[in-house]
Amino acid sequence: MPVDRELELLSVVAPAYNEEATIEVFYERVCAALEHLPFELVVVDVGSTARTRALLERLAESDERVRVVLLSRNFGHQVALTAGLDQARGDAVVMLDADLQDPPELIPRMLEHWLSGSHVVYAVRESRRGETKFKLATARWFYRIFDRLAQLELPHQAADFRLLDRQALDALLSMRERSRFLRGMTVWVGYTQTAVPYERDARYAGETKYSFGRMLRLSFDGMTSFSHAPLQLATALGFLFSGLAFLAIPIVIVLKALDAYLPGFSTITVVILLLGGIQLIAIGIIGEYVGRIYDEVKGRPLYVVQARLNVPESDAAEAEQRAGGARAS
Ligand code: UDP
Ligand code: MG
Repeated sequence: MPVDRELELLSVVAPAYNEEATIEVFYERVCAALEHLPFELVVVDVGSTARTRALLERLAESDERVRVVLLSRNFGHQVALTAGLDQARGDAVVMLDADLQDPPELIPRMLEHWLSGSHVVYAVRESRRGETKFKLATARWFYRIFDRLAQLELPHQAADFRLLDRQALDALLSMRERSRFLRGMTVWVGYTQTAVPYERDARYAGETKYSFGRMLRLSFDGMTSFSHAPLQLATALGFLFSGLAFLAIPIVIVLKALDAYLPGFSTITVVILLLGGIQLIAIGIIGEYVGRIYDEVKGRPLYVVQARLNVPESDAAEAEQRAGGARAS
């Protein structure tokens, strides 16, 4: 494995959704942390308010290392990251949140691992400040269930704050699936993976843009992208209850013969409700998969670019080729 890497360009990719309260400080901290390195900062704006856009325009005007991709609306955090990765040109690429929960000061340390041959360097949260108990608990449950069901070893406490080598990134970007669970996909590509511990800060300002509903969607995307086990659950339950039914037949016959048979209305009601419930859940699980198949089959582009700032035409064309669709005007 060649390990004498030399950095020509580092791309830092960050999605921003109404981050007017943090974006300038974010820019300053990225610049300070990467002072002596050749880097570009790719900010993906997902249909933010005019105020955020104006701030981004100003940053792009004053610093040509800042490249902005303006999407036509909010296509979600994972897709925003993908749009940024499509645009990144670096031989190493870091993705992180624009709210300064992921400290840019960690990037040089991640880069050291890249220089010594690592392809994917992921940041593992040793502690998480400023998160609700509820968020921490649900995250823990999610990873526990994921471990049981999925055929993928997902490191716990590692989110999307990662550095990718160009080779691993190209592999990642060749996956154009719609249900994107990037932290799983970066593990799926393989190569050499290294963990770097860090303390996750509280949000610098503003509030979380990830509602509970969005978190739930992301976890369903993760689960369905890497596991068929929920589908097989219905089969297992089907066998279990059919088995019980077969056991019940001789019991009923014996009871009838002994004349001890009582019409059990409530038993029947309970059984019908139970089985009806299980069947509906099973259909719902199938629905989660069918819905995702439908989304894939439609083959829509992942996102629509409204405009790009500081991006030369040739780079824009290259990004669009990767995205394989919508042409920006
Ligand atoms: N974000 C986005 N689209 C969304 C939600 C969030 O681009 O629909 C961005 C947001 O601007 C931030 C990052 O994704 O840079 C992480 O979001 P947030 O901090 O709100 O999530 P949390 O850290 O609370 O999970
Ligand atoms: Mg955050």
